[in-house]
Amino acid sequence: AKLYDTLRDLSTVKVEEDAKPNKDGVVVYWSRNKDLRLDDNTALSYASAVAQDMHLPLVVLHIFSIGDYKSHDRSPRRIDFQLRQLAYLKEQLAALDIPLYTLTHSGNRKDVPRVVCDLLEEWGATGLYANLEYEVDELRRDTEILERTKRARETGEGWKGQVELFKDFCIVAPGEILTKQGKPYSVYSPYQRSWLAQINSHLGDYMHKQNGPVIANPSSTRSHPVLGSLFSHQIPESIPGFELEGGEDEASRMRRLWPVGDGVTESIMHRFLRTKMRPAKFFEAPLESEADGDVADPKKKSKIGEYCEGRNRVDWDGTSHISPYLAAGLISPRECIRLAFKLAGGKELPGGRDTGIGMWVQEIAWRDFYQAVLVAWPRVSMGKPFNLKYDGTVAWAMDNDGAKLKAWKEGRTGFPIVDAAMRSLKEQGYMHNRCRMIVASFLSKDLLIDWREGEKFFMQSLIDGDLGSNNGGWQWSASTGCDPQPYFRIFNPASQSEKVDPDGAYIRHWVPELRGVKGKAIHDPSAKLTKKEIEKMGYVMPIVDHAKARTKAIEAFKECVASA
Ligand code: FAD
Repeated sequence: AKLYDTLRDLSTVKVEEDAKPNKDGVVVYWSRNKDLRLDDNTALSYASAVAQDMHLPLVVLHIFSIGDYKSHDRSPRRIDFQLRQLAYLKEQLAALDIPLYTLTHSGNRKDVPRVVCDLLEEWGATGLYANLEYEVDELRRDTEILERTKRARETGEGWKGQVELFKDFCIVAPGEILTKQGKPYSVYSPYQRSWLAQINSHLGDYMHKQNGPVIANPSSTRSHPVLGSLFSHQIPESIPGFELEGGEDEASRMRRLWPVGDGVTESIMHRFLRTKMRPAKFFEAPLESEADGDVADPKKKSKIGEYCEGRNRVDWDGTSHISPYLAAGLISPRECIRLAFKLAGGKELPGGRDTGIGMWVQEIAWRDFYQAVLVAWPRVSMGKPFNLKYDGTVAWAMDNDGAKLKAWKEGRTGFPIVDAAMRSLKEQGYMHNRCRMIVASFLSKDLLIDWREGEKFFMQSLIDGDLGSNNGGWQWSASTGCDPQPYFRIFNPASQSEKVDPDGAYIRHWVPELRGVKGKAIHDPSAKLTKKEIEKMGYVMPIVDHAKARTKAIEAFKECVASA
């Protein structure tokens, strides 16, 4: 939190005298991993207006920092998605005579500020504009950039232009709403009420796009002494060490499931907001399932209209699947709530649990909540539990040889809903929210494996991996987090399975060995079938006894609470 404040103070420093450019100067927008779009992008829109005012060309810089990708366990799928989107953005920007330059930095990530400042010096940049990222290392990096330029202004050495950082990733930025005592919220419900009140009391500001469009550079930019050559610069096809493991097969699957390009986010949102819920047609590819045509009453009959029930059914196609696009910033979260507001058609943004639209808006608020937690309690992005009484003291230790973790990762635990979900993650880079909760509970409670193992594996596998939401989700499930599931409330995989996949369609799809299992036995085959029958189908017996594991987990947590 202190870091965020320092950064806020530093970023208000203006350097008007240095802002007077030489005639070949440039204005730089630094595109980050989470704001990969031209529309409604706060820093980009601002940088573009500055460039216009100063009659200077705008250049877009993007850095692939391998050290950061490693420290964040960034998944090759997410990086591939990012590269595809950057290639698309490069074309869009070129049409506006704006070059997009990317740089792969394989050295120490702490060197990024120096690398950037050297480049800015070389380009004769007058200003650097970027959107904040709220993870602690990213806040440190930005603080270092600001301190460097401050030092350069004092010593006269190094790049000393203007640096401005913007809040863009959230609808309501971290620190903007606090409790009556002036503290950050650590409980979601009052946070969400305050979040909604903040939006509704400034509705005009939130519902009208504040960020103007990106303005084209003069066509002479193409012959600019520094920028001219950047137009021919190519976006890499992969980043060393982060290539897709499944080669071309996986690449084409990811392109099909998670496309980028003209109109993609609009179509995904349209499909969620205006077309019919499709029971028993769980997620395959957002833009490929049969087109239904618009429904007459989307407030009631569309996917969002039926979201209160639909969000809990993993065998239905009932959620938006916008998460990869929000995580990498291909769509702005503000645009999401603007669309919801428009559809609701009232005077306020709904945010209650009584309508599908309100319920969905609540989910978007979770995203902001977890970013606010990252900033207020930076330890959560440094591998620490939110609740320090669980710091290393829960006996996470039942899996000394790693066999259970491996079975969980591979979807071979003998618990069909867990295995189906883990296999969907492997195939799609995505998992339904209910299943994320079930598999996280299973790992941290039934297997008593440290939740950080699961958090890491998710980041390495998800296309929508985001530290705030992922860490928040894992710590919620492991009962170590901010406003978590109480430790004694442990999901029973079989009864969860009956609730979220009543007919077993999701399980039969992802665990083909079990396709022949009839009726409710699909949720808990070992209760009805013999070991021999299960093994004959090519499936496995449960790797733990849920009832015993549950008792053991509760004991481990109790002990931990007692000794804290
Ligand atoms: P929808 O139901 O349509 O929701 C709309 C949007 O709201 C989502 O795209 C997402 O941006 C946001 N949202 C919804 N639920 C949550 C939530 N619980 N927390 C935070 N934001 C939410 N979400 C990620 O974006 N990245 C992650 O790395 C991630 N890891 C998770 C790990 C665990 C253990 C759990 C329990 C949840 C995790 N989530 C994560 C949250 C949630 O599962 C996904 O956002 C959701 O499944 C995405 O599908 P959707 O876009 O169809 O969601």
